[in-house]
Amino acid sequence: MDKLSKTLSQILEMDYNYVYNRLTTTISSEVTIKKQVEKEKINQLIEYNFDGVYYARDNSRIYPYGDFLSSTLGFTSTDGKGQSGLELYYDKYLSGTDGQILYETDIVGVEIDGGNASYIKATDGLNLKLTIDYDIQRLVETAMSEAMQVHSAKSCQMLVLEPNTGEILAMTTKPSYNLNEIPRDDLDTLNSLSRNRLVSDIFEPGSTFKIITSCANIEEYLKGNSKAYSPTHIFNSSRYRYVDGQRVKCWSNHQNGKHANLNLSGALNNSCNPIFVDIAMSLGKETMYEYIEAFGFGKTTGVDISGEASGMLLPYFAVNNVEIARIGFGQTIAVTGLQLASATAAAINGGNLYTPYLVSEIYDNSGILAQKIYPTLKGKVVSEKASSILSEMLEKVVSEGSGKHAYIEGYRVAGKTGTAQKYENGVIAQGKYVSSFIGYFPANNPKYLALVIIDEPVGEYYGSTVAAPYAKQVFQGIIDLKNIKP
Ligand SMILES: [Zn+2]
Repeated sequence: MDKLSKTLSQILEMDYNYVYNRLTTTISSEVTIKKQVEKEKINQLIEYNFDGVYYARDNSRIYPYGDFLSSTLGFTSTDGKGQSGLELYYDKYLSGTDGQILYETDIVGVEIDGGNASYIKATDGLNLKLTIDYDIQRLVETAMSEAMQVHSAKSCQMLVLEPNTGEILAMTTKPSYNLNEIPRDDLDTLNSLSRNRLVSDIFEPGSTFKIITSCANIEEYLKGNSKAYSPTHIFNSSRYRYVDGQRVKCWSNHQNGKHANLNLSGALNNSCNPIFVDIAMSLGKETMYEYIEAFGFGKTTGVDISGEASGMLLPYFAVNNVEIARIGFGQTIAVTGLQLASATAAAINGGNLYTPYLVSEIYDNSGILAQKIYPTLKGKVVSEKASSILSEMLEKVVSEGSGKHAYIEGYRVAGKTGTAQKYENGVIAQGKYVSSFIGYFPANNPKYLALVIIDEPVGEYYGSTVAAPYAKQVFQGIIDLKNIKP
């Protein structure tokens, strides 16, 4: 035992005492000394021809695409158990079961000579087919790597989904990590790099949330609610609104006729905050919350990936008027990127809220389909009419308003920009912003919806100039790839 322990500890580069204790103090018939040993070391050991030493073949994972899609795929432990992302969520499908050999033994567990042995076959795990479109994912990975460089951002995230089904076509968080080189011995780094921020992180959306406020207003107007504003109503052009003695102001100074004589469409084009205060206050807390909840805020979307956060929505009974006013333009509420994208999809696809999803089919190892996953319609949030009126307005935001950096000549791109200040310990963090853009095309029959989030860009920070150009870049890429005619 001494010689064996010495040899094993030398070749496997392990502590002698540890190996010796493992070999001598066990009560089981078998002990594992080391996993994931390189082949040349095994070859050295085989030459010693030790009695009772066995080597079992192990599988190692190779990811030919490196850091491609890594925060969505997730990673596994060294023995193959899912730890994050799809690997964790679908672990029970993917992992299969180990085979077993059962021996007849005597009462102390020694195998009986000539006894029966029976085998239980190992079963392979199942295979997943993802909704991810490889080509679009590649466009998105490239765009966000560029954004990281150009804006020296803390993180950049992008999501593309099919608004009529909830299929996630691309999803990335940068910085990312190479799945062949998982930083297992640095847990903080691993946790940070492996986080799928679009699903697990929440942020204050700012102006992109005006899509939801506008949609609620239009639907209520169509229903004949006298508290809703007509699309032709011209709003008060003051920069300020006073709510319960507190002053809420527009980001623009409203000088020299800026933001004057705006209707709802103009308010979206210019992203004029006080107009959304008017809408939220007029609709009131009950109606605002009815829509916010119907669009899925404050709860998880139910996407099939681990680590989903539910966002932060003040409880109904605790919300005061100033908070309702601020929620109208996207403050005092925190959302996940995925929540915002799926809610926006419902607002512009005719009013249907779908559960976003990543796995479309599950196969066994011989290629036989075990399960097909269909889109899940969670509810009808608004009418088709309201949805199409809103979509026309969002198309104008891109063709003539703050979203013009996403405009593509000859194509009907629509969307909304967002620039939100960040908070740290409840106070505004100076100079820290989340710049975002949510957009889709074609506006009259949306097929691709994209969300871009640039977290803490250095220098420029407006969603219109920082985030919108990457949506344009990816949409242009999709147009080229799929040969979509103008
Ligand atoms: Zn304004």
